[in-house]
Amino acid sequence: MQEVHKPKKPLIFYYGIVLLALLLFNFLAMPWLAQRQIQVVDYGTFMDMAEKKELGQVEVQAQDNQILFTNKDNTVVFKTGMMPDPDLTQRLKDSGAEFSGEIIQQANPILSFLLSWVLPIVIFVALGQFMSRKLMERAGGPNAMAFGKSNAKVYVKSSQGIKFSDVAGEDEAKENLSEIVDYLHNPDKYKEIGAAMPKGILLVGPPGTGKTMLAKAVAGEAGVPFFSMSGSEFVEMFVGMGASKVRDLFRQAKEKAPCIVFIDEIDAIGQKRDGRVGGNDEREQTLNQLLTEMDGFEENTGVIILAATNRPESLDPALTRPGRFDRRIPVELPDLQGREAILKVHAQKIKLEEHVDLSKIARMASGASGAELANIINEAALHAVRDGRRFVSQQDLEESIEVVIAGYQKKNAILTDQEKKIVAYHEVGHALVAAMQSHSAPVQKITIVPRTSGALGYTMQVDTGNHYLISREELENKIATLTGGRAAEELVFQICSTGASNDIEQATKLARAMITRYGMSDDFGMVALETVNNQYLGGDSSLACSAQTQTEIDKQVVGLIRQQHEKAVKILEENRDKLDEIAQYLYEKETITGEEFMDILNR
Ligand code: ADP
Repeated sequence: MQEVHKPKKPLIFYYGIVLLALLLFNFLAMPWLAQRQIQVVDYGTFMDMAEKKELGQVEVQAQDNQILFTNKDNTVVFKTGMMPDPDLTQRLKDSGAEFSGEIIQQANPILSFLLSWVLPIVIFVALGQFMSRKLMERAGGPNAMAFGKSNAKVYVKSSQGIKFSDVAGEDEAKENLSEIVDYLHNPDKYKEIGAAMPKGILLVGPPGTGKTMLAKAVAGEAGVPFFSMSGSEFVEMFVGMGASKVRDLFRQAKEKAPCIVFIDEIDAIGQKRDGRVGGNDEREQTLNQLLTEMDGFEENTGVIILAATNRPESLDPALTRPGRFDRRIPVELPDLQGREAILKVHAQKIKLEEHVDLSKIARMASGASGAELANIINEAALHAVRDGRRFVSQQDLEESIEVVIAGYQKKNAILTDQEKKIVAYHEVGHALVAAMQSHSAPVQKITIVPRTSGALGYTMQVDTGNHYLISREELENKIATLTGGRAAEELVFQICSTGASNDIEQATKLARAMITRYGMSDDFGMVALETVNNQYLGGDSSLACSAQTQTEIDKQVVGLIRQQHEKAVKILEENRDKLDEIAQYLYEKETITGEEFMDILNR
């Protein structure tokens, strides 16, 4: 897939050329043109002509030591040098010559008029025309008045076009979209039976899951032109401009049909219209125009509109009704197989060592999007180059996951001995509580090397397979594991440190969700007390209950976490010898693997 556009030279380039041409003309051509008309003669000829009264005009240029004169008809200009001649004035007077100061200009009146008046005007008009054309091309189109042009990027089919095979995982989305490809290949099959293709298809999902890629892949597979524009590009400073851009986009698309129009981040223009005073007029007009255009073209014209958004709930209902964007394709975060497939696709671009276990990497990167996985592979390749190796190893990949989770290793963070000990106990506390409970993900790695994100250490747990349902017990165990770090500090050093802030935040979030959203509290039962607003972007939520209930929720959250914290303390007390042993080992080694941890535990 290649974007079609001409390479553009900077405007300064054209200004430069014109200026150079003008300078050359002034310094070379003008004097030459002027000189060409003048005949050089000797002083004798001048005197002869004066005697014979054949002179027209005479100009004595004392500073240049020369005399310019013309014949009687003023058609030829002559030039001669000056001689010491005291009678010159008298002789010229006798000859009847006219004394003048502007022989050259007068001698060629037409030429001088052309040079001094017409030529500059012609040059400036031409320059103006040229510049305005260039500016217009820059603004997006050859027509006069470039306002309101859509500026959509147009891609044509090319041999490197993105295909479905480049998009790993996302099988459901691909299956759904391959119907569109089939339609674009042979529309008659559908027309015959009377089936109408959806006019618009909405791809919804978290950022970086491959929505743009999928849209491009549809165009690549179908081999049709692909118009791409972002929702925000429609919205301009002037009201009405966006609407006119929409019109232009659809006009172009209809000319090029069959084709695909892709509008990225459609929520920028497609947000719910609300009757607020002083609302965004420009956005609403743009949306209205889009709605009208989508109604305006008949079914089966061959124009398919694909749009992508992370915020489907904020879209205007008029936009998502059947007849407009009537099909919605979820593009979710990849599952384990999906992650492995995406890693494989991107690993083809780099040189991997043999025996690299991508499925382990996929397991470690749980919850990562396609874009993050692509980034992990790239970070690993960069790490290998930094180390001066020619192939990417398993360690590079694992290290790059840690970079994505926790940032780079801090080279010069100096912890005191006591701090290092506390961090070691803290991390082993987590790991031990996790290991001693059922249904916890196995510990993969424990490290107390500080990271740039501020983490002084962390315990990585990796699930073995896909996990779609989580039970109440598992959630409680998770909270207990999160409190395990603080529990170890209290048990061993009888202190509370700031190191547990992140654990506390996560544990609170989990406990809250259990009570308000998952119906896991005994008092409230299955009542939704909270709604999620933005499921693909962070999932912030708003409470939907009375103030008293909120107070009750807070009490229950505190109770739940306290209960799990006590459980964690109890587990650690019972395994105090293992806690000491593993913490000491971690303190010495700084990083230990899950196997080493389990070995000591099972000894
Ligand atoms: P979105 O539009 O959903 O935000 P993109 O389609 O722009 O995401 O994806 C960004 C990048 O992430 C792509 O260029 C690609 O490298 C990578 N990527 C995302 N999903 C996938 C996938 N399913 N297969 C392969 N690469 C992917």
